[in-house]
Amino acid sequence: MARPDKGGIALHWQIMIGLGAGLMAGVLVNWLWTDATWLRLGVGDPDAWMASKESADNVSAGFGAQAARFVANLNEFVGALFIRSLRFIAVPIVLFSLIEGASSLNDLKKLSRIGGKTMGIYIGTTAVSISVGLFFANLVRPGTMVSTDVRDRLAGQGAEAAGEKIAAAQAPDVWSTFLNIVPTNPFGALAEGNMLQVVFFALAVGISLTLVAEEKANVVIHAASAMTDVIIKLVHVIMLVAPYAVFALIAKVIAQLGADVLLALAAYAAVVVAGLATMVFVVYPTALRVLTPVRYRRFFRAIAPAQLLAFSSSSSSATLPVTMECAEERLGISEEVAAFALPLGATINMDGTALYQGVAALFIAQLYGIDLDVGQQLTIVLTATLASIGTAGVPGVGLIMLVIVLQSVGMPQEVMAGGIAIIFGVDRILDMCRTACNVTGDCMVASYVAASEDALLSEEDVEARLQQMAQTGLDEHPLEEG
Ligand code: ASP
Repeated sequence: MARPDKGGIALHWQIMIGLGAGLMAGVLVNWLWTDATWLRLGVGDPDAWMASKESADNVSAGFGAQAARFVANLNEFVGALFIRSLRFIAVPIVLFSLIEGASSLNDLKKLSRIGGKTMGIYIGTTAVSISVGLFFANLVRPGTMVSTDVRDRLAGQGAEAAGEKIAAAQAPDVWSTFLNIVPTNPFGALAEGNMLQVVFFALAVGISLTLVAEEKANVVIHAASAMTDVIIKLVHVIMLVAPYAVFALIAKVIAQLGADVLLALAAYAAVVVAGLATMVFVVYPTALRVLTPVRYRRFFRAIAPAQLLAFSSSSSSATLPVTMECAEERLGISEEVAAFALPLGATINMDGTALYQGVAALFIAQLYGIDLDVGQQLTIVLTATLASIGTAGVPGVGLIMLVIVLQSVGMPQEVMAGGIAIIFGVDRILDMCRTACNVTGDCMVASYVAASEDALLSEEDVEARLQQMAQTGLDEHPLEEG
């Protein structure tokens, strides 16, 4: 078996091809699935086809329908299997690599310095990110570009979904978020996959290892190190199917996308995307340029697989194993920094989500002719920062937490319900974009922390290591060597 990008096309290009092909397939299916097209093609019962968009089980049309349903199910299966596989290794990779990493942090002062820096910059970049979003939303005023008719029609269409989101929203309690970092049962934390608690457990074990006799500590450190290598190999194996999985994930999302809604909300979506692009392509690279030796090309080449996967899966948590692999192996961030900063980032650092919440809040206010003054916009900065800390790295949670942001500026219930119903139609596609931004932000902060702690390899050293790994990758089993 070959390493994902050994020889041939580099992994990120393979994923990009999967993404492009998935996009085209999704657009095609979306088009084929419309009523008029099926009538024109004379295939099956258009009503059944429309229903099948919601539930593939309803289709009883002819062979074409059966085949299409099979492909849709297969796509769904492959996408879900891929995400499950990534989730499957997320806890072990964080646990083992952080135990190993923290065991070299024999200096508690260093640990608190790294922790403080990481948290501080995470919160700082999130506040900058919302401000960028608010700037664009104030400049373009996308909410004024939707007619009242379209607004009310979309609000009606999405009313049910909006009700569910509003019911699911819970105000973030930052104190209990922090208190919950300490697990009452570390094995329970592992079993539930509570990432912050796993980080705490691994850190506690790693640090304690520096305080016990060396021969005992070495047993655990060697075992953790070996397990980390094993899990990283698993990441490589899983990534072999990434291009196809990305195809499947994207095709499914695009096939279900309402093109008419997208068109009606084009200005809003464009503002969110412009804000996210500013963060990803301007703010982060500039910060890296000023604060670290990492340059544009090196950064994006290293983390592209994680960004593409975040985009396709809409989940920073599911992407975490790949983000860690990219940061450590391709970017050269040391294990102790990557294994600490990235799981933390995947759980609490959501720059893209916060930006999106800022734009969405302003958009909804503009839609309903409500003026949000500077004080209210500052409240948005504050609540969206806190809300993003409490947002889990899974698809769609950003929209639920938006309810909290809207409540903080006193948005009336019916405006909130209408607004959420309206933006719900384009939420998935924006979720993909904001998740890619979230993961990029995590990598930027990890790079900064690593550079400031002298825990970042030079570009040449990374290149040399990758070359060496390409030669001794998954191809040969160690037992067969020599
Ligand atoms: N899907 C986002 C993430 O996983 C969270 C959100 O904005 O909904 O980072």
